[in-house]
Amino acid sequence: MPAPDRYAVIGHPIAHSRSPQIHALFARQTAQNMSYGAIDIAPSNLAARVHEFFTAGGRGLNVTVPHKQAVMPLAARLGERARVAGAANTLVAGAAGLLADNTDGAGLVRDLSHNLGIALRSRRVLLLGAGGAARGVLAPLLELQPRELVIANRSAERAEALAVAFAARGPVRGLGLTQLDSVPFDLIVNATAASLRGELPAVPAEVIGAETICYDLVYADRDTRFVQWAREHDAAQTHMGLGMLVEQAAESFFLWRGVRPDTAPVLAALASPAPH
Ligand code: NAP
Repeated sequence: MPAPDRYAVIGHPIAHSRSPQIHALFARQTAQNMSYGAIDIAPSNLAARVHEFFTAGGRGLNVTVPHKQAVMPLAARLGERARVAGAANTLVAGAAGLLADNTDGAGLVRDLSHNLGIALRSRRVLLLGAGGAARGVLAPLLELQPRELVIANRSAERAEALAVAFAARGPVRGLGLTQLDSVPFDLIVNATAASLRGELPAVPAEVIGAETICYDLVYADRDTRFVQWAREHDAAQTHMGLGMLVEQAAESFFLWRGVRPDTAPVLAALASPAPH
């Protein structure tokens, strides 16, 4: 058998990443001859290490915190999704040079629509955060035609700027967390990094009503602080971002291999507790 095609995820830190496990399961399921590792790259070495990986024959990279914006200038071509998001999570080697794309938004939308059966047409959506993750999911969320999408961020100016940048794509407005009205939303997406530190964005509890679905992009073995808070205030449903992670991985896998893996068994394998 020829040597496997090489792929990896790059980030800093990266040891916690579940992407190697996900892609190993996809590769086995679809019988692809490939390897997938995790490479810790400090920001100061990013360009040199990415160049080294592809010069040595690497076929593709996933990109995570803190490199999603910094990889953009390293690519010869930008996919539409990366251009709109201003960030990339996938690099693809090709005859015309490196392609940078962004599959995060597609991953969230696929998890919401396909796995969880949540329809957003004519619904009110609250997006917490205005960083790279929020930017990546905004256009795909607006494509689902919500009645309104409110971006609320700790730094109001960032939310306002994001709303202006995406205004042509749908009914979106941006404000500070403290400016939120005490009115329930249908869906609240936490795209802040607060959960990583066990923190909660300072949001009035009244944004949760009896029908509200709360989704934290961060995933963990235990409920995140945001999910705990949503449960305390009787949200109709709570979800964490493991489904999004698996779905964005499947979309990257498709870009690289031209094969779409079945995500359901992979999500089930990851969600079940690890054997001791
Ligand atoms: P980022 O660019 O650093 O942005 C961080 C955002 O979080 C900013 O809006 C920041 O507000 C806000 N924030 C941080 N701490 C906060 C706190 N204590 N209270 C309120 N707001 C707070 O990070 P990112 O790339 O957008 O990533 C955000 C999260 O999404 C990460 O935790 C990442 O793990 C997760 N994510 C998950 C997936 C998945 O597949 N499940 C994919 C992508 C990202 P300010 O602007 O005011 O600083």
